[in-house]
Amino acid sequence: MNDTPSDPRLLATCPHCGATNRVPAARIDDHPVCGRCAKPLLDGQVLALGDADFDAVVMATDRPLLVDFWAAWCGPCRMMAPAFAQAAQQLGDGALLVKVDTDANPQLAQRFAIRSIPTLVKIVQGREVARTSGAQPAGAIVQMARG
Ligand SMILES: [Zn+2]
Repeated sequence: MNDTPSDPRLLATCPHCGATNRVPAARIDDHPVCGRCAKPLLDGQVLALGDADFDAVVMATDRPLLVDFWAAWCGPCRMMAPAFAQAAQQLGDGALLVKVDTDANPQLAQRFAIRSIPTLVKIVQGREVARTSGAQPAGAIVQMARG
């Protein structure tokens, strides 16, 4: 399999059996299932994206995206991670919750002019429509994704 910039494959760990799956970004809204256990791979899951695959997913999805810009050294980011995962479960198909490690993906951090983390950015049809900085509880994250 060749990974080209126009058709990047996302690495997704199955929440049910732990198998690593490679999902074409273009199929992000097609309810991809795990190659090993055939259970839903992404529904209700937080998706980790980066400089290489972010744009392909933004173009491929019809859902609103909520992007959590974070870094491993950031205490409030680590605090918010469980709330973000919980929000993803509550939202299910209603939105795509994405996390971007700003240290590993400087291009995205720069393009979105991320100055403090965590920062949540909501993207609809490829355009930023809202952003907020600082750790948020799950309820606020769900509300932002739906609002
Ligand atoms: Zn599985």
